[in-house]
Amino acid sequence: MRSWQTTIGTSPPAWMRYAVSVGSVVLAVIISLVLYPYIEPNPFALFITAVAISSWYGGLRPGLLAILLSLVTINYFFIAPLFTFSMAVSDVIRLTIFLIVALLISSLSEARRISETRYAVTLASLGDAVITTDTAARVVFMNAVAEALTGWTLIEARGKMINEIVQLVHMDTRQKVENPVDQVLRDGRVVELANHTILIARDGTERALDDSGAPIRNEAGKLLGVVLVFRDVTARVQAEVERERLLQEAQAAVRMREQFLSIAAHELRTPLTSLLGNAQLMQRRAARDGNMAERERRVINVIVNQARRLDNMIVALLDVSRLETGQLSIKCEHIDIGQLVQRIVDEIQPTLDQRLLELISPDTPLLIDGDALRLEQVFQNLIQNAIKYSDPLAPVVIRTSEQATTICIHIEDQGIGIDPNELPHLFQRFYRSDTSTVQQTAGLGIGLFVVQEIVKLHGGSVRVESTLGVGSTFSVCLPRLP
Ligand code: ADP
Repeated sequence: MRSWQTTIGTSPPAWMRYAVSVGSVVLAVIISLVLYPYIEPNPFALFITAVAISSWYGGLRPGLLAILLSLVTINYFFIAPLFTFSMAVSDVIRLTIFLIVALLISSLSEARRISETRYAVTLASLGDAVITTDTAARVVFMNAVAEALTGWTLIEARGKMINEIVQLVHMDTRQKVENPVDQVLRDGRVVELANHTILIARDGTERALDDSGAPIRNEAGKLLGVVLVFRDVTARVQAEVERERLLQEAQAAVRMREQFLSIAAHELRTPLTSLLGNAQLMQRRAARDGNMAERERRVINVIVNQARRLDNMIVALLDVSRLETGQLSIKCEHIDIGQLVQRIVDEIQPTLDQRLLELISPDTPLLIDGDALRLEQVFQNLIQNAIKYSDPLAPVVIRTSEQATTICIHIEDQGIGIDPNELPHLFQRFYRSDTSTVQQTAGLGIGLFVVQEIVKLHGGSVRVESTLGVGSTFSVCLPRLP
């Protein structure tokens, strides 16, 4: 109760309430004495008014005091014999009726006061700021939170225009924002505060606000005023701004990383291309002239193979960076995928010492719409993986199959196989199995990621079936030309 009294500030002090009670009875006595000849038959009328005023203004106790004073003074001044406290039985009945009516008025008044107090306490104890206005946008009530946020007390603000108490500007433009109270009065419906609204308090403090205004209507639907409910969301807005800043920083860092990767890859490829080109030249010359010792020929083969591997890795890194920035695109044309796979197998076979690459494919063309260079990268990758993750002597079989709408290429190895738990992660960027065999084999864990993305760009799919210790089959299915 105390907090309500200090917060709301509308309940008068006790002495004043009792003073009003005594004063109104004294006034009733004086007026009744002046008008005695007219009110003599019924001297209670003005005292009923005094009791009503006392109860309404001061509550139950001042009301009871007024009743008591009224009984005494009526009896003394207005009931014969005058200026004594003696009375007839009929007067006792009259005073009793007065007492009952007066008590009824007092208790009704008290009930109303309790209900109003409860309403005011509820508003005062809300965590949100609440301000009510009349239909002229003048402040009628504000709770403690509203007082704290605006810097105005209810006593100061009451009767002032809402725009003076609640000053709103846009967070970014600093332009004045229309007060929701004005909008509600104009449109007669609930209005949400615009986002990014700042409340400028009386002392200039700025706070981000959130919430709404709503019309107050009586039962007949007549607009009586507006209730404005708002809360301080400065902390939330600051957190959002901070999150946005961190996101931008992170995005900038990712962009820089991509840029670095891209530049580094280009710079690394320039000397590597020259190295590979010259090594291949020597390799071809040695094959043509046949005058190079077997040991030197092997050395050159190693240089060519390793330089090619390095080049493939750099290309894959570049592709990852392109995929992340959405820059990897394909140029499609009609191609015979059977022929393409045949060429790849023919290229890889000579680089293998004893292992056999077996291609099982019909002689008829297998036509698809695709990017030959990118698809070559896909099959190179899958075949190299099959070689990498299986015994040096175990054969790798490449099979093609035709379905109604697709052509599939299956790459089967008899290698280490893949744990079923790992299958869902296999095509993720940088994923590598943590088995020791894989860890001891060179690789970046980006090959399958790039393979899947390229196949997806072709409208196809890639899947894997594998048994640990037995082998794996990777199948690439692409839409066939009609
Ligand atoms: P990398 O081979 O460079 O590690 P990939 O993206 O090509 O990267 O392959 C991801 C992982 O998938 C490999 O590290 C390996 O664990 C597994 N993997 C791929 N191909 C095979 C295969 N033919 N047999 C067994 N495991 C494979």
